[in-house]
Amino acid sequence: MPFRDLRHFIDFLECEGELVRVTRQVNAKFGIAGGIRKMSDQNGPALLFQNIEGYKIPVVGGLFATWNRTAMALGTTSDKAVEKFLKAKNNLLKPKLVSKAPCKECILTEEEVDLRKFPIPTHHERDAGPYITGGVQVSKDPQTKIQNAGIYRQQVKGRSNLVIHCSKTSHLRRHFDMMENQGNPLELAIAIGLDPAIHIAAAAKVPYGLDEIEVAGGLRENPVEVVKCETVDITVPATSEIVIEGKMLPNIREPEGPFADICGQYESTPGDPVIQISAITHRYNPIFQTIFTGFPITENHILNSLTQSALCYEDVISTFPGVKAVNISPAGCSFHAVLSLKQSYPSEAKRLILAVLGKMNLLRRVVVVDEDIDVFDDLMVEWALATRVNAEQDIIVLPRVGRARPDPSATGALTSVYGIDATIPCELNFDLAKVPGADKFEIP
Ligand code: MN
Repeated sequence: MPFRDLRHFIDFLECEGELVRVTRQVNAKFGIAGGIRKMSDQNGPALLFQNIEGYKIPVVGGLFATWNRTAMALGTTSDKAVEKFLKAKNNLLKPKLVSKAPCKECILTEEEVDLRKFPIPTHHERDAGPYITGGVQVSKDPQTKIQNAGIYRQQVKGRSNLVIHCSKTSHLRRHFDMMENQGNPLELAIAIGLDPAIHIAAAAKVPYGLDEIEVAGGLRENPVEVVKCETVDITVPATSEIVIEGKMLPNIREPEGPFADICGQYESTPGDPVIQISAITHRYNPIFQTIFTGFPITENHILNSLTQSALCYEDVISTFPGVKAVNISPAGCSFHAVLSLKQSYPSEAKRLILAVLGKMNLLRRVVVVDEDIDVFDDLMVEWALATRVNAEQDIIVLPRVGRARPDPSATGALTSVYGIDATIPCELNFDLAKVPGADKFEIP
């Protein structure tokens, strides 16, 4: 059964012992993130902070910080999450438009619009200030009118302004560029506090033109109910806790950051687009949701790992039917992929490396191992790297390649991406040494 909304998921997690309410007072600056950081590091529960200094609104975070909870959000178990995601992506369900929606219980316009009413957290020590990290940004292709939903970080820049970080390869940026080229603003809505299937779908880098809300419908096996915004021509999930409506302004840029994102170090941008907010609507007693990111492993890494691994598998399986499994690992910040392959011709692994690097524009490194290596077992992968790689013939380096996000180890926009063929060289006879009966031994 799908979750109706964020509240339904919170209640479910609490019953499962996967969410704890924090009743003592915390500060929105570091206090919320401190709790989520510690719980993320020890596989602990999600946290619902009910008492935030200076605010009446609670904040929930860390919902996706374990594989177990992320799988629960999809109504499945961690070993089946990739399969479930791919099934949903191929069983899209269009959203259902409704006229009455919980997210309209309170409507703030004009002078009432004030981001300072919301306990927007500051996560890391040197972050420039409060950031919205758990919002799903919805915008529309000006020509096809197809909506896109994605997750982008936004820095609060006053009571009714945000600066939004969206890279050149992002779908939101494509919409914005089309409008800005004609000198026009781009309307958008930011939905915060959602049924978790919508977050998982929005985190997925599905092809351009595919509305992530339809993927969410597939994940829920039930259409997402959506409602029209008040001041922009966009539809948003009806059960959103909070919806921020506004426009991305043409030909205006403001500095963004520093902000500690998925690489676990501070990033900043000299000029990113500015959002002018036109309305905020919310439910009675809304819950603000933050998505924590930073040094791995956080919920941001898990959301990326699940969706990227699934999409990578789907991308390569028709050309490389011998691919057994894909792991775009959370610890690798979604930049490292390991694939296992049963090769059908010598050095097929190198072809696979080129295909994956060509297709997945976030990746820096692709390792291909044989089918006897479990790609989710770091020990086995390292053993394969130690015993099956002859560096001069098995490492492919492609210099000066663009990536979907700046590379912390490179100056400028270009970096090098590389592949490691860690499969057994076909001319060698290689046997993984086993002790007969070891798997059946039991302590008497
Ligand atoms: Mn998209």
